[in-house]
Amino acid sequence: MRHSPSDLKPVDRHLADILATVRPLAPLELDLERALGAVLAEDVTAPVDLPPFDNSAMDGYAVVAADLANAPVTLPVTEDVAAGDPLVRAIGPGLTARIMTGAPLPAGADAVVPVEYTDGGTANVVVHKQVERGNAIRRAGEDVRVGDVVLAEGTRIGAAQVGMLASVGRRRVLVRPVPRVAVLSTGAELAEPGTPLGYGQIWESNSFMLAAAVREAGGEAFRVGSVTDDPRVFMETLDAQLVRADAVITSGGVSMGAYEPVKEGLSPLGTVRFEKVAMQPGMPQGFGVVGDDQIPIFTLPGNPVSSYVSFVLFVRPALRQMQGLPVSPPASVRAVCTDRLRSPRGRRSYLRAVLTGDRVTPARGQGSHQLAALAAADALIVVPEDVTEVPEGTTVEVIPL
Ligand code: AMP
Ligand code: MG
Repeated sequence: MRHSPSDLKPVDRHLADILATVRPLAPLELDLERALGAVLAEDVTAPVDLPPFDNSAMDGYAVVAADLANAPVTLPVTEDVAAGDPLVRAIGPGLTARIMTGAPLPAGADAVVPVEYTDGGTANVVVHKQVERGNAIRRAGEDVRVGDVVLAEGTRIGAAQVGMLASVGRRRVLVRPVPRVAVLSTGAELAEPGTPLGYGQIWESNSFMLAAAVREAGGEAFRVGSVTDDPRVFMETLDAQLVRADAVITSGGVSMGAYEPVKEGLSPLGTVRFEKVAMQPGMPQGFGVVGDDQIPIFTLPGNPVSSYVSFVLFVRPALRQMQGLPVSPPASVRAVCTDRLRSPRGRRSYLRAVLTGDRVTPARGQGSHQLAALAAADALIVVPEDVTEVPEGTTVEVIPL
């Protein structure tokens, strides 16, 4: 089928429409142990200095550094100071205290001698080597000062950030939660992987792939699996998901044929638009909102490569926006194409390719059903709408995957 460019909606306009609709998720307070992957909706400040008090960085002896000027010297040990000791007495010149890593530094001490520089004595200690003032002392506030912003709003919480939150004493934190995304495939021909294939069937791949893509993008995916091409069944299945989803992705059932359950089921609502977008793969697209909560729904085309490319171009930016993260166009580089390319007039092509340094090699098998080429690819070559032929050796735009 040929399409005059005027039939087609530009890729950028489709993305702009999506981003104009999708709202950041409302912030909520989560327990620290549930905050992984969420995005901070507040600046987190330190309520105290970190460390909160001067303490020893090593196991050794708290000393007055000047006492070691004529090392080796023998000094009396007044007491043991362990990490967590609530009461630590001061020492004066000529005295030491045996001290453990993390224990509060006794007042009067100005250095810690590592145990390795001593005979390890408990009543008296022989110190063989001199140390500088301040040696092996962690000063209060040298990590973080009271009032410092330790994590800024908009930071995604990974393991290190969970550690930071705990170490400023936070048990609960205000975040934009991880978006929950229901992923639903349609197609009477689809068989669940792990079950035998009947005649005319193919194994269902999109719900697995798109659920994985959601997780890679920082979302939580519910893979609903696939439904047949009955619009009623599709709508019932969708309805059941809306209670737990912040967004829905469907695949298949949006093209020009008969038996297009997604289009047939959603069109009467009037809240989802089905359009032809000027791209290849992935021309038939739908986007809108469903349910009382106006949940965004992305109805992607069924061909696996089309659905994946559509995810990268449209869904991934929307998920970032839902998380309150800045949305920018996919990062691209320029590389020399090692082969000639063809592209349909009026549509932007995203061709599967392998990027090696500054050279990019298009995959064999650019059909939108050819998942093997996508799985072997690590980049997409972008060919603009007005270009139909790209000679070998041309510098092209490449989106690394
Ligand atoms: P559709 O968009 O429903 O017309 O499907 C287009 C093509 O993609 C057909 O060849 C389908 O068999 C195939 N397809 C649709 N959904 C899936 C899926 N979930 N997994 C694998 N292939 C699919
Ligand atoms: Mg179908």
